[in-house]
Amino acid sequence: ILIPFLGLVLAFWFYSARENFKPEMLKGKRVIVTGASTGIGEQMAYHLARMGSHILITARTEAKLQKVVERCLELGAASARYVSGTMEDMAFAEHVVKEAETSLGGLDMLILNHIGTSYFGYFNGDVGHVRKLLEINFLSYVAMTTSALPMLKESEGSIVVVSSMAGKVGFPFTVAYSATKFALDGFFSSLRQEFNIQSINVSITLCILGFIDTESAVRAAAGLLRVSPAPREECALEILKGAALRRRELYYRYGSTRLPLLLRDWAAELLDYLVRSREMGLLLKFF
Ligand code: NDP
Repeated sequence: ILIPFLGLVLAFWFYSARENFKPEMLKGKRVIVTGASTGIGEQMAYHLARMGSHILITARTEAKLQKVVERCLELGAASARYVSGTMEDMAFAEHVVKEAETSLGGLDMLILNHIGTSYFGYFNGDVGHVRKLLEINFLSYVAMTTSALPMLKESEGSIVVVSSMAGKVGFPFTVAYSATKFALDGFFSSLRQEFNIQSINVSITLCILGFIDTESAVRAAAGLLRVSPAPREECALEILKGAALRRRELYYRYGSTRLPLLLRDWAAELLDYLVRSREMGLLLKFF
């Protein structure tokens, strides 16, 4: 009885001793947000603007980026600018980081959030599509991280990697997407270990998201998921909190992501069954 009790006391002490988030933590910080023309990335840009950060956003659609930048300035960003282009091109990925160096004089936080378009359905054998998606969703993240590292070491900054439950559990109908998200976990979790060994003070926060109410996700999941999506504004804020607090991993929403993952380690076949039979929604209702 004593050992579990002591465990609970220690867990309570650990959680209460953790630092709390304050918006001032991001005031004046120089931040890149990728995939910020819409969805969760757009909402992260608005939160950062309210907190007074310097923001550099990127995506392909210039007209949308212009509007997001205008809104960021209205909301109080210390500065806001954009670079448009495609993350299929590694030279472009590196160019975005270079832009932060020239226009912001350094970088405190690199938020990697963009994804290329994929399909929702059985794997169709298109190897070219898998390669292209790996370039956009994975290799460009690696290229940006590599280019940004000297600046992030200098500022003792942060890397934020937006991933998914599909990067921790095998979901059907998203084979290529899932592969790119698992790759992110492998790369960035290993890199975090190396930073630790080398005393490099750059945090890496891997964000494991459930179903969020962005237009693209709601369209893709129409009629397929029984769970209702979580709000993107709240999701974006939770990502920024986790990043500012230099968390190792961030689960949003906690109950519907972290807790099913406990099942993965103890009853993988049950979790697989629940995912396949679309009963995940029923399971999540309990959390
Ligand atoms: P959206 O589809 O809303 O936004 C994707 C962003 O990426 C857009 O800004 C888009 O802009 C940009 N983009 C697309 N293709 C390219 C490209 N080739 N080069 C550069 N930028 C590109 O995504 P969400 O907001 O829904 O998702 C954001 C993150 O959250 C992703 O990493 C996703 O995997 C993760 N996530 C989302 C979930 C959800 O339910 N929404 C669930 C789990 C994880 P443009 O078209 O202008 O280039």
